[in-house]
Amino acid sequence: MKHVRTPKFPDVVDNTMLTTFASCPYKFFNNYVLRLEPPDTSEHLIAGAAFAKGVEIARTEYYINGKKEITAIEDGVVALIKEWGYYETPKKSVKTLPNIIYAFLEYFRHFKMSVDSVVPYITDNVNGIEYTFGVDLLNIKHPDTKDPIIYGGRFDMLGINKTSKKLVLVDEKTTTSLYKFTDKYLYSTQFMGYKAALQSIGLEVTGIQIRATAIQVGKIDFASPFYKISDELASIWKEQAKIKLKAMVKAYKKIKGTDSRDLEDVVKWAKVYPKNLGVSCMNYNQLCPYVKLCNRFNPTEGYGFYNVNTWSPLGSEESIEDRLNELQNMVEQDLEVLIHG
Ligand code: SF4
Repeated sequence: MKHVRTPKFPDVVDNTMLTTFASCPYKFFNNYVLRLEPPDTSEHLIAGAAFAKGVEIARTEYYINGKKEITAIEDGVVALIKEWGYYETPKKSVKTLPNIIYAFLEYFRHFKMSVDSVVPYITDNVNGIEYTFGVDLLNIKHPDTKDPIIYGGRFDMLGINKTSKKLVLVDEKTTTSLYKFTDKYLYSTQFMGYKAALQSIGLEVTGIQIRATAIQVGKIDFASPFYKISDELASIWKEQAKIKLKAMVKAYKKIKGTDSRDLEDVVKWAKVYPKNLGVSCMNYNQLCPYVKLCNRFNPTEGYGFYNVNTWSPLGSEESIEDRLNELQNMVEQDLEVLIHG
């Protein structure tokens, strides 16, 4: 089954898009411009999302709605289970639903909300729990709409240290090992981007506190390294992000108005967005999900394997109109195949 795909530049970009473009332009193109989403969902993503939802609800119920700590944690467990849904973890993985619930309960035993030194930053205008931002940070216009391209993101908590009264980013990580964990996020561009974005709206953060929960067979471990993010580093990140975003816009302008019905256009896409091959194809010991498109001359033969990606850093960005056009294209194309073979 062949589906017509039309490139569309995202309205909101985030650090993942920028780093994906830098590591392999073709991967960025397939994921964020053609919006092809691999059908397999990793257990790490499911477990991380369910855990984060539980933490968000427990914090909301405790810090905002004033519930007792134990009740807030119970509400968190319910939210975690709902978020998990009916997913079945692959055999041999430790990230099963019972293990995630156990890790969640242990997490709040370790980072007890009633005595935590870092609490959500909450004012009349700011809710630091599951903090979401979208700012015109990079001052570059969208190639279609001419509106500013929004730099967006979401992280687990904008916190305030009760002693120093300084703002700090808090990010939860669920992992299976704490081996070399403390070095892992030392130069994470994701957090430099958060700092730069928050600075642009007058919120000064000192750095990032990672709260890592390691889920291992028979035990749960924790680590909470803190990384300072200097103003200099945030400003270097911003400069580099601008260079990448300009290159992303420039590439898109070369293929704007094309679609996958014309094989010449499709061939051009891979010239404008080169396939990096090599090390970019393996990430966290997993093969890139777009390999099915890279190993054939006509990648449209592989499009039916993917879903339509409507993800955006700020929530779904695909309009109903976009989705209807997309569906109409798919139906037309399928009819054409049925009629003409
Ligand atoms: S398989 Fe490799 S070359 Fe192809 S999109 Fe993925 S990272 Fe890029």
